[in-house]
Amino acid sequence: MLDDPPESDTDAPANITHWYDPSSTATTITDGDGTRVVDDDGTEYLDFVSQLYCVNAGHGNRAIVDAMTDQLQRIQYVSSAKRTPARTELSRELAAVAPDSLSNVLFSVSGSEANELAMTIARDYADAPKVLSRWRSYHGSTYGAGSTTGDPETREPLEAHASTSGAVKFLPPMSYDSPFDADTPAELAEAAADHLEFVIKNEGPDTIAAILTEPIAGTSGAYTAPPGYFERVRELCDEYDILLIVDEVITGFGRCGDWFGIQTAGVEPDMLTFAKGVTSAYAPLAGTMMRPEIAEQVRSGGFDIGQTFGGHPVGCAAGVAALEEYADGLIENVRAADDAFADRLSALERTHDVVADVRGRGFLRAVEFADPETGAPFHDPRVDDGDNPVRDVIDAAGDRGVLFGAGRPATQLMLAPPLCATTDEIDTAV
Ligand code: PLP
Repeated sequence: MLDDPPESDTDAPANITHWYDPSSTATTITDGDGTRVVDDDGTEYLDFVSQLYCVNAGHGNRAIVDAMTDQLQRIQYVSSAKRTPARTELSRELAAVAPDSLSNVLFSVSGSEANELAMTIARDYADAPKVLSRWRSYHGSTYGAGSTTGDPETREPLEAHASTSGAVKFLPPMSYDSPFDADTPAELAEAAADHLEFVIKNEGPDTIAAILTEPIAGTSGAYTAPPGYFERVRELCDEYDILLIVDEVITGFGRCGDWFGIQTAGVEPDMLTFAKGVTSAYAPLAGTMMRPEIAEQVRSGGFDIGQTFGGHPVGCAAGVAALEEYADGLIENVRAADDAFADRLSALERTHDVVADVRGRGFLRAVEFADPETGAPFHDPRVDDGDNPVRDVIDAAGDRGVLFGAGRPATQLMLAPPLCATTDEIDTAV
């Protein structure tokens, strides 16, 4: 018999740590089905954050499990330098549903790595060192991707250790708590794009390889861009010869009502990164898509580096099956429920003084809390001392059987159910 593990001496609230601490009292999830998960006491929860914004097709999806099982029974692994039927099929299907400009894919394992590879390829292609990314963004936890992350809770600890060389931040077109003085969405789009142009000019366009941005801010608070913003960003990229990389790690695979978030703006990116929803989290898989001419130039220059588990066959089999589920009604379900979801949250804003803003699109939504007297957030987002009403709301909702996420900063509650959620379940959660 092993001894009991020592008691944890950290003060981190039990349910919000990623560290695996054997004595933690965090909920132990044992089972799942559709929008529901079950803990080891048999208590059922409505999973309104898709675990980490990734279980897009819902829990316990038989078609995905069967496809993975079939792959495992035939051959469990094939070198990432070889072809497998599932890998080939998934890359074809991705090219079919992604923006038209993107036909090549380089598979990896996590969203951080997909962004890491996108930046390396962009720097190589453009022969320029800088990547511009937004304040209030999340792009990953690794050496390079960590340096582009711009949310106040994650940026500081990451940046202390990340490679910040070449990482430049610009201001996002936030509609709430905006850094811009704008009265209308059109004014906001213009002011934010003008600011971006100012940054480009002052950094020196020749030194900039790429702009890396989420089409809709994910964990930074479900901020959609005002109409016209991404069109201007595309124009700036064309004018100054900068690649546009969209990070679709959260917004991809139907979460916001289209296959990819950028498609709602009708803008063609040069590169696109994905992870999470590609397999609906049945296996780790990620990828970097790009225009064919980028892939050709970079490959002919000698960049031909794969990862052992990049494009793992079981992940690709899951991906093919998950994409079929999305095409077969799940994306349509998000679209059909979009207005109802928005209406329910708007009603919450009208009836509850502490709700300062609601926003998002499809099944990626945020509720912002603020002191009704002062309009200020209830706590300093840079100090996560466990004394935060948003965390209290999350805990209280958990006690009543609904799981939500905390945004970064945690002044906002995140709602992101699996794409099979019904309007009744949205009602229950709200
Ligand atoms: N990009 C975005 C928008 C994300 O939300 C995340 C993770 O949450 C990442 C990148 C990093 O992905 P991963 O955690 O798989 O490395």
